[in-house]
Amino acid sequence: MTTRKKGRCFSGARPTGRQHLGNYLGAIKNYIALQDEYDCIYCIVDIHALTTVDSTENLRQNTYEMALDWLALGIRPVETILFIQSQVPEVTELHTYLSMVTSLGKLTDLPTFKEKARQQPHNINYGLVGYPVLMAADIALYKADVVPVGVDQAPHLEFTRETVRSFNFRYNTNVLVEPQMRATEIPKVLGIDGQQKMSKSLNNHIELAATPEETAQRVMQMVTDPNRIKRSDPGNPDICNVFSMHKIFSSPEEIAMVDVECRRAGIGCVQCKQLFAKNLNAHLVPYRHMRSDLGKNPDYVWDVLRDGQQRASAIARQTMHEVRAAIGLPLP
Ligand code: SF4
Repeated sequence: MTTRKKGRCFSGARPTGRQHLGNYLGAIKNYIALQDEYDCIYCIVDIHALTTVDSTENLRQNTYEMALDWLALGIRPVETILFIQSQVPEVTELHTYLSMVTSLGKLTDLPTFKEKARQQPHNINYGLVGYPVLMAADIALYKADVVPVGVDQAPHLEFTRETVRSFNFRYNTNVLVEPQMRATEIPKVLGIDGQQKMSKSLNNHIELAATPEETAQRVMQMVTDPNRIKRSDPGNPDICNVFSMHKIFSSPEEIAMVDVECRRAGIGCVQCKQLFAKNLNAHLVPYRHMRSDLGKNPDYVWDVLRDGQQRASAIARQTMHEVRAAIGLPLP
């Protein structure tokens, strides 16, 4: 890390493979912007993924594809640490220590645990219960000053803050840093069904690395104002997902035009979607070129991740030395 900025920022995401529009608008765009303000550490949390995945067959490839997307979109690996969670195993040790200052009842009461338990009643594993403790360990290990979170994730970060306080209190130390919440306006990006959050598992996503033709095909499948059945029916852009996307990817003039013409049936949904697809594809041109270039040398991505692992390990080793000393464990 070359220069110290406003502090250290940490965030992690599961290795979900090729990224989609929801990943970009909901997280990566913000990650890219945060690099201007903070020394950023971004972690591909493959250990977390093990709490819910049935098969690890694609874990490695998904890690590669996700890292490639992030780099092509604008994560700058010289200043930012990009690494894989499992490659810095100190996090599991800190997780163990933090688990001993965490009440079990608090963990099983968390809404996210209850939700996961509902989703996979056949696999309520121990890791699933301790998931927030591992998350706290991720953040505390790197002494992050800030963590970018949307409003709905605020309780998760509060849990981390409480855990850090419990540890520091229990061992009468200040070795762990209580991270601040960097509140972020994270838009809920709906899928092409116009109903649910965009997600690969629901197959309602628009993949960033798709071809322009594939992208246009997905856009043409987008559900619009359900009351607009015939071309001559006036529409309501305020309840249309295509219009929400225009607001992000189209020019002010185009947004104003759609806003007016939709309401008086001056523009049809097909034409409106074609315009959005054109603008989306234009927006993605630099990323797609970069992805194609970087993808010609797969070693590049692994080299970035290896370099990130070394830099993250240096911080982790130092923190764990301080943590073990604070606990009173015999030091090697
Ligand atoms: S014209 Fe555009 S904004 Fe209006 S309902 Fe159709 S797709 Fe949505």
